[in-house]
Order: sequence, then C-alpha cells, then structure tokens
Amino acid sequence: MLRLQKFETYKLTFGPTPIEFLPRMTAALGGQVQIFAKRDDCNSGLAFGGNKLRKLEYIVPDAIAAGADTLVSIGGVQSNHTRMVAATAAKLGMKCVVVQESWVPHEDAVYDRVGNILLTRLMGADSRIVPDGFDIGIRRSWEDAIESVRAAGGKPYGIPAGASVHKFGGLGYVGFAEEVRAQESQMGLRFDYIIVCVVTGSTQAGMVVGFAADGRADRVIGIDASGTPAQTRAQVRQIVDQTAELVELGRRVTEEEIVILEDYAYPAYGVPSAETNDAIRFAARTEAMITDPVYEGKSMQGMMDLVRKGFFPAGSTVLYAHLGGAPAINGYSYTYRNG
Ligand SMILES: *Cc1c(COP(=O)(O)O)cnc(C)c1O
Repeated sequence: MLRLQKFETYKLTFGPTPIEFLPRMTAALGGQVQIFAKRDDCNSGLAFGGNKLRKLEYIVPDAIAAGADTLVSIGGVQSNHTRMVAATAAKLGMKCVVVQESWVPHEDAVYDRVGNILLTRLMGADSRIVPDGFDIGIRRSWEDAIESVRAAGGKPYGIPAGASVHKFGGLGYVGFAEEVRAQESQMGLRFDYIIVCVVTGSTQAGMVVGFAADGRADRVIGIDASGTPAQTRAQVRQIVDQTAELVELGRRVTEEEIVILEDYAYPAYGVPSAETNDAIRFAARTEAMITDPVYEGKSMQGMMDLVRKGFFPAGSTVLYAHLGGAPAINGYSYTYRNG
C-alpha cells in the first residue's frame, strides 16, 4: 500500500476521470491492440482543466498553510500550466503572477493573444512575457517575479514549471495510478501499457511510482515532447526518487523501470512535425478527441507509431493518458486553417 492518504489535498477537479474505449481508433490502427483513453483533459470545470490540476491539488494546502496571497509560476507563452495556476489562484481568491517565456520558435499572428494566454489574462493573472528560450529547470525570471511580489508587500508562493520540481509535484499522478487500479477492477481488465507525454516530468514520475506498487512501472511509456530528453529524464528520475520516499514505496525504482522514448519530439518543443499533425487529425477524425501540437499530439503520434510497428503484442490493452492542452491549438490558427 502506498501512503498517499496522509497528504492533504484541496479539491480542484471533479474527481476520478472517465476511461473510455476508442473503437474507431482501435479499428483504424488494425484492431490488434485495444485502445482506451483516460480523460484527464476533462477533469475539471476550472478553465478547461488538465493534468496540472491533479498536481496542484497536493500543492495548494501548502500554499494556504504558508499564508500566501499570490501564486507565482512560469511556463511558455501558450503554457497550460500557467493557465491552471491562474485558475487555481482565481478559485482560491489569491493573486497570480506568471512569467511566460518564449519557449517555442513558432510564428502565428495570434500566438500571444489566444488560447491559454487569453484565458490566463481573463482570469486576472499578471502575465509577464519574457524573451528567454525553452528550459524546464529553475529560472532566474521566476525567482525575480517571486522577489517582485515580496518587494510590493505581497506573500508569494512559488510553483516551478509544470509544478514538477515542487516537493509534492509527483503525488497527483500517484493518485492517478491508484484511480486506474480501482477502475480496472470495476471494468474487469488490466491495462498492459500506459502512454503518457513527458516534458517537465512529474506526471510520468508520479505514474511510475504509482504503478511500481504493482510491478508495472516499466509499462508506463513516456513519450518525450521536450526535445531535451536527457534533462527531462534526469528530472523524472529525481521526482521518482523523491515521490517514492514520500509515499513509502519501500524500494528504489530502477533505471529500466523509467521508460522514455525520444523519437517523437522533433523538430522542437512546441513545433509539430508533419507526423504530429497527421496524429492530431487522426484523433479528431476517428474519435473527435482533440489533441494539441505541443504535447498530446506528440504522444498520440508516438502511440500510433508503436501500434503500427508492433511494439505492443497482439491482444494488448493500451491506455492513452489524455492530459489536456487543447486550448493551445488556437495559437496554431494558420497551421490548421484548412483542417
Ligand atoms: C504539462 C503537460 C504535459 C507534460 O506533463 P509534465 O508533467 O510536464 O511532464 C503533457 N500534456 C499537457 C497537455 C500538459 O499541459
């Protein structure tokens, strides 16, 4: 038994997310592998939801206990994470400052006005665009923003990129694994593989720890979308170790149990390849399931390629973890102008 219950949570999501079978996608990919999706993209009524809310549910009690009045975080211009922090702050009645770095070499006339950043501004966050490029680590601009809140007499609470290297960042997706296990026993099946997009790392790290409890950690297939996989892998490793200790897994997760495939992040973080765009259209046209060019389109692309290559033995059940992110697609208005 993992010791997850001892951690306080603040409810931001509706509760357990649905798992649905995807019959048209399954058939279109040959019918040998049964494909299901767990819809964390539909997990909340807060500003379209997504994976960051599961993490934030374990972080908010610490922010409240610290007496904070302002949440301070960081991401790219079209960051889902900063949208979710802005939503959380609005819901809590706190202020919010988000640093939005220029992570993506993508040009679109409306990129910095629509989708995530529009929603972030709408919820009253102070959104500060800075020119720094992509990096999942701790950033000077974030530390400066925290300091600026303090200098103005506020009480800042810092949440790092993707809520990942926060001490409690991995707990939310340990909870995901526990939830999947409960759903599996209701459904009378056991998923052979779980597909998850990985960038800042705590989503996969939490799942790895959660599924390590029943020997399935290496069935969590991380699809890197960062394009800087060595840094992502190191961050996942660190969060796995820290989270395993918190929930008292009782052993060290091995390197072989952390599976990250690096083949689908090209050409760069936030820039879709032709194959990513094919995957986005495929999911939209078979199942009306909307994926984005930064994250879920790449994990969809990876899953499709793995099915076609025979990576999953015939008869396998595969669970695609849909982590959200659809609002970002608005920043790609020109790319998808013809569908
Ligand atoms: C943040 C995010 C991811 C990546 O999760 P990490 O925990 O940062 O690895 C994947 N998909 C979506 C939609 C995201 O917003």
